Amino acid sequence: MRLSQLLIPTLREVPAEAEIPSHTLMLKAAMMRKLASGVYIYLPLGKRVLKKIEEIVREEMDRAGAQEVLMPAIIPAELLKESGRWDVFGPEMFKLKDRNDREFCLGPTHEEVFTDLVRNEVKSYRQLPLTIYQIQTKYRDERRPRFGVMRSREFIMKDAYSFDVDWDGLDASFDKMYDAYCRIFDRCGLKYTVVEADSGAMGGKDSKEFMVTSSVGEAVIAYCDSCGYAANEEKAECTVEHKSDEEIKPLEKIYTPDVRTIDELVSYLDVKSDKFVKTLIYTYKDKVAAVLLRGDREVNTVKLANLLKVNENDIDFADEETVRSVTGANVGFAGPIGLKGDVLLIADAEVPMMKNIIVGANETDYHLKNTNYGRDFKADVVSDIRKVVDGDKCPRCGNPLKLERGIEVGHIFKLGTKYSDALGANYIDENGNEKPMIMGCYGIGLNRIAAAAIEQNHDDKGIIWPMSIAPYHAIVVPVNVSNDAQRNLAEKIYDELSKAGIETLIDDRDLRAGVKFNDADLLGIPIRITVGKKASDNIVELKLRRDENSIELNYDEVVNKVKELIINSI
Ligand code: ATP
Ligand code: MG
Repeated sequence: MRLSQLLIPTLREVPAEAEIPSHTLMLKAAMMRKLASGVYIYLPLGKRVLKKIEEIVREEMDRAGAQEVLMPAIIPAELLKESGRWDVFGPEMFKLKDRNDREFCLGPTHEEVFTDLVRNEVKSYRQLPLTIYQIQTKYRDERRPRFGVMRSREFIMKDAYSFDVDWDGLDASFDKMYDAYCRIFDRCGLKYTVVEADSGAMGGKDSKEFMVTSSVGEAVIAYCDSCGYAANEEKAECTVEHKSDEEIKPLEKIYTPDVRTIDELVSYLDVKSDKFVKTLIYTYKDKVAAVLLRGDREVNTVKLANLLKVNENDIDFADEETVRSVTGANVGFAGPIGLKGDVLLIADAEVPMMKNIIVGANETDYHLKNTNYGRDFKADVVSDIRKVVDGDKCPRCGNPLKLERGIEVGHIFKLGTKYSDALGANYIDENGNEKPMIMGCYGIGLNRIAAAAIEQNHDDKGIIWPMSIAPYHAIVVPVNVSNDAQRNLAEKIYDELSKAGIETLIDDRDLRAGVKFNDADLLGIPIRITVGKKASDNIVELKLRRDENSIELNYDEVVNKVKELIINSI
């Protein structure tokens, strides 16, 4: 392809909203443009990258024995009502009505549609196991679309679903997908970590996420260098220290006028925040829960939701009125002793291990000092509900955990019978008995892979594409197109490379060499062939985008050298 003809409006300046390198570079390198918040147009270069990723995903899915289908993006409401998810998705789901007032949504994911297909078409154990997948556009009205295509409202997902006769079968299907995912991300040139993820309160077994390590990742990973344990922040189990051996002291009521927050208490009483237990009042489905947590800790709302057997978005901080009615005090003085009404009291697992704790007194302007679990209060439930922090002990081996940021590019999940039960996806076993199919689901975000690859492969000049997903393998740059020798040799090389099946660009624009080199660096094409002054001697320069140095080659060596470089790097 000729750069003079390619639709490639590269930018010098980018809009301020591009906060991270991949977003900036995808705009600058003319891979994409924004149409609306979280909705993007792919220009030729961006489209080629997506196509490459798509092909890798497809090849590996096919290799793993999965069969490709294509589902509609428009899903009738009844299907999601059958599974109960019509309301669960909340505002993240784009809903619409047809001319007859029938409700639909734009599919945010397709568990129900695949389960519906299989319940109608698959009846016997002889037809199982079955794994089917699609590469298709998903719609999610994200609360905070940002970072370009990393978190967009329309994106391309590969979603696969496995159907097995039993749990052993599911384990085997899951393992196949796990291996396929590793191959996909390896082939895309990504460095990633596989972490344990939350599988929710409603059934489901193993859930694993593939995280591309990156400082701009929105997810947090906790991992242990010693034993290899790795989990996302939501799932990471927290360990508790042994009971403090401090002597138990008598309870005291202390006057703390207008001192409400942990920070205010810390400075008012001159005591460290880990001597306090805060009492957080939540509402969930018309009920109230009070959560006790060490002063310096944060609640993990996923753990809390699982404990309460509700969805995360069913949980909210209680309003002022509710706080007043259950504590009998103004906001800021809640405590575990003497809560009024029907309140579920939950203590984080650390709380019973603490001694002589400061808590709110459930009385405006007062706190209690030296309260002790067991002596002064007891919770209805004691459970791990806090967020992991850097240096926490690994739940497997006890060595310190480290925290790191990651971009979730893929997710594999043993669903079990969640959808087969809800939708009645049953099969007849060899004894004629009807049984629910055991399901797994497996998602990969294709656009997110492209962005994540840029995050891990760029420098201050631009993108450095891994060969496997680069929009073109090579770019031929004649330094001066008005020079006949340079232009002719460049054209000849371009021709030969193209004929050899190498995806090649030629920068045939009549521009200064510096501008062309900058563009080649920005676009991130892995191999650059520069045709300059030595063209009359048939000598050209070959440079890898990754390397600083270039080598000189005779023109007739170029095709073989480029082929070799491509083969060695894919
Ligand atoms: P996240 O926690 O980032 O919102 P998710 O848990 O909602 O992700 P899944 O429902 O598991 O994601 O979707 C499967 C894959 O689809 C993700 O691993 C990710 O690669 C991709 N994906 C999800 N949401 C988006 C989005 N808004 N934009 C781009 N890709 C997305
Ligand atoms: Mg999401």
